[in-house]
Amino acid sequence: MEKKKRDYYEVLGISKDATEKEIKSAYRKLAMQYHPDRNKEPDAEEKFKEVSEAYEVLSDASKREKYDKFGHQAFDPNSFHYSEDIFSDFFKQFQDAFDGGGFGGFGDFFGFNSSNSQYENSGKDLQMTLTIDFLEACKGASKTIKIKKYELCSHCKGTLADSPSDIKKCSTCRGSGKIQKSLGFFSTVMMCSTCNGTGKEILKTCHLCRGKGHLVEDVEKTIDIPAGIIEGQSLRLAGWGIPSKNSEGDLYILIQIKSHPFYQRLGNDIGLSVPISIVDILLEKEIEIPTPWGNKKVKLKKNMPLNGSIRLDNYGFSILHSSKKGALIVSFNPYMPKVDKETQEKLNNIFANIKDEEYLKWLKKFN
Ligand SMILES: [Zn+2]
Ligand SMILES: [Zn+2]
Repeated sequence: MEKKKRDYYEVLGISKDATEKEIKSAYRKLAMQYHPDRNKEPDAEEKFKEVSEAYEVLSDASKREKYDKFGHQAFDPNSFHYSEDIFSDFFKQFQDAFDGGGFGGFGDFFGFNSSNSQYENSGKDLQMTLTIDFLEACKGASKTIKIKKYELCSHCKGTLADSPSDIKKCSTCRGSGKIQKSLGFFSTVMMCSTCNGTGKEILKTCHLCRGKGHLVEDVEKTIDIPAGIIEGQSLRLAGWGIPSKNSEGDLYILIQIKSHPFYQRLGNDIGLSVPISIVDILLEKEIEIPTPWGNKKVKLKKNMPLNGSIRLDNYGFSILHSSKKGALIVSFNPYMPKVDKETQEKLNNIFANIKDEEYLKWLKKFN
């Protein structure tokens, strides 16, 4: 079944007039709850992405304004947005706090248990949204999109230092990445803020990547959209995230599907309403039904119910990862054709002589 996109405010569980701070704190809470690294529920990743997408829009004043005005439609075809900060800075800070169980206890002070700041060394995943046409989703498509290709910096190999001799042990934490702080009765271990938990200090940052660890270029990439894709599904491009020296990130392409002016998706089936002249029905004409897979001839029958529908099997939406298709459900929208005065008079004469008691019989049932 097609999934309806949830309202971003609803996703974050906040009100329409939430402040920046409330948005950030709602996102932080949910992102930690659903982060795929710590939540192994099958739908955690999807929830995490939903939450991240909502945050990406609502945390940006101009995107939020657009969203408030136009809803999900605000993000028009091919205007996909990158969220490089999907594992954003506060993640780095809070990840360890969470693991250490110190979250929430000491206000801004967080416990720090793991030996190294994991996020410093792992690649970052990126997310973008790609809007495709109804028929592209129905039949599958190859799409060439402009994306950024991140490569590990060829000079520093992701160490961020200009040369190996520019990497020194952090003098604040002596290379451990953590420091001990005492707060009255408590003594707590915290992440070293000088080195951000890496235990290293870089004397001279890499001249090529300017200390980012990666280089980036704009490229065109052709991606295959599988036939039958469902709104809200993501395609994963492995290795298209931001790499670090230990691992490469992935790019998740969230698919949005534009609605079609005539076809309506009903799971694997497609609904289509077709105007039909009652004259064509009376004459039992053969008419053409436009399907996504070409026109299909259908012979009309006098005895068919005017408010009925017919089912054209295998003319509907592609079924994902299958060679099968659903049905096209054609409902009729009968109309009376316009005729000139002379023809109308002739018709009136003909119809006046038709003996039809069906309606009167029906009416009598009420007495
Ligand atoms: Zn570099
Ligand atoms: Zn340090």
